[in-house]
Amino acid sequence: MSVSLSFAGAPAGTAELLGGIEKTPLERYVAPAKPSLVGLPRADLAQALATIGVPPSQSKMRVQQLWHWIYVRGAQNFDAMTSVSKELRATLAQHFTLDRPQVAAEQVSVDGTRKWLIRLPGEIEDRPHEVECVYIPEAERGTLCVSSQVGCTLNCSFCHTGTQRLVRNLTPGEIVGQLIVARDRLGDWPGRTPPDGAKALTDAPARGGKEAGSRFVTNIVMMGMGEPLYNLEAVRDAILVMADNEGIGISKRKITLSTSGVVPNIKRAGEEIGVMLAVSLHAVRDDLRNELVPLNRKYPIKDLLEACRNYPGLSNARRITFEYVMLKGVNDSIADAKALVRLLKGIPAKINLIPFNPWPGTKYECSEWEQIEKFSEVIFNAGYASPVRTPRGRNILAACGQLKSASEKLSARERLALRAMVMTE
Ligand code: SAH
Ligand code: SF4
Repeated sequence: MSVSLSFAGAPAGTAELLGGIEKTPLERYVAPAKPSLVGLPRADLAQALATIGVPPSQSKMRVQQLWHWIYVRGAQNFDAMTSVSKELRATLAQHFTLDRPQVAAEQVSVDGTRKWLIRLPGEIEDRPHEVECVYIPEAERGTLCVSSQVGCTLNCSFCHTGTQRLVRNLTPGEIVGQLIVARDRLGDWPGRTPPDGAKALTDAPARGGKEAGSRFVTNIVMMGMGEPLYNLEAVRDAILVMADNEGIGISKRKITLSTSGVVPNIKRAGEEIGVMLAVSLHAVRDDLRNELVPLNRKYPIKDLLEACRNYPGLSNARRITFEYVMLKGVNDSIADAKALVRLLKGIPAKINLIPFNPWPGTKYECSEWEQIEKFSEVIFNAGYASPVRTPRGRNILAACGQLKSASEKLSARERLALRAMVMTE
């Protein structure tokens, strides 16, 4: 392949040879000739309006109108915007679109979990990129797992995304665009039903009984592809759009950002975004974490936990979630569990045990279920709420074996891992 990597001062292509800590994004976003207004923050909308001659005195009012149509009503064409003058609608349509990112594939599993493969333009015209976005319905909430990068800047050894060489940062519009696509496919806009071909959510057992007027997507987790704190500005702008009370209005307390530990940006995330934080810890000793999460060589556990202790807004009501992937014979001993409890002492924390989701070519295996239970018991006895939903996990495994259907494309392990990953409350 002609793709090369540049790595912290070393010549391009050496990152993998050195077991590199981080990659540099290889591609940039190139805006299409006729850009979409979907997913844009207010400032970008104002700028777009300025380019088509909307006078500054009208800018705020026009932005407000667009905001309402795009984010409250889910408008898919300018003609729907009945409160905007016909003339302006025509000018808008001449210069912009309301296009969403393209859905390349949709998979629906028996329990209502659905995964969309979303196609995004590449810098090279005939080489588009794909990211994943997953919706997980539960009785009390519906969680959308959103990607922040194509591939990932980092190389965690147990993570499939980390093996991808190509990295591109997503724009705020592309990050918000994933939520817009999900709402389109779920018919999750006022007065809207799912489009032809999309399976109605009420077919699924979960969220079938959602209250009238409430939305299917109630929670967001930045846990898809990519390291959000290596794309901080775009992730910040996107989250602020998703949390905006006059638009989509998902409370910041229902938005969780997961990081592998980009220490210098943790404080900024707290100050500039103010969402719930999840930290991918995965090991209690630096030697092991260096191997699992190579970024640990730059920001070791001590520094990471110090940044967590100082996370703006941290309190017992707003705890940090520590994620811990269960790898058989690697990090799953009872001694590890005890060390984990000691390590987190004094930090308002929740612990999420994630069953490892294997992928072709990985050297790791998921811990035995009995071991996960024993590990979980140590944590539970230390006063943390049930860190992995054992019974539910069992149900899913059972259901999967018995109810295989053509539309069910996520593996049982994948769904179990997904649920554990998003279990942040
Ligand atoms: N880059 C960020 C967010 C995306 S990954 C981060 O690392 O936190 C979201 C979570 O999934 C992380 O906790 C990550 O460690 C975990 N994860 C990655 N690959 C996994 C796998 N194969 N099985 C289980 N969890 C995995
Ligand atoms: Fe990137 Fe997170 Fe995967 Fe590590 S676990 S490679 S940071 S996506």
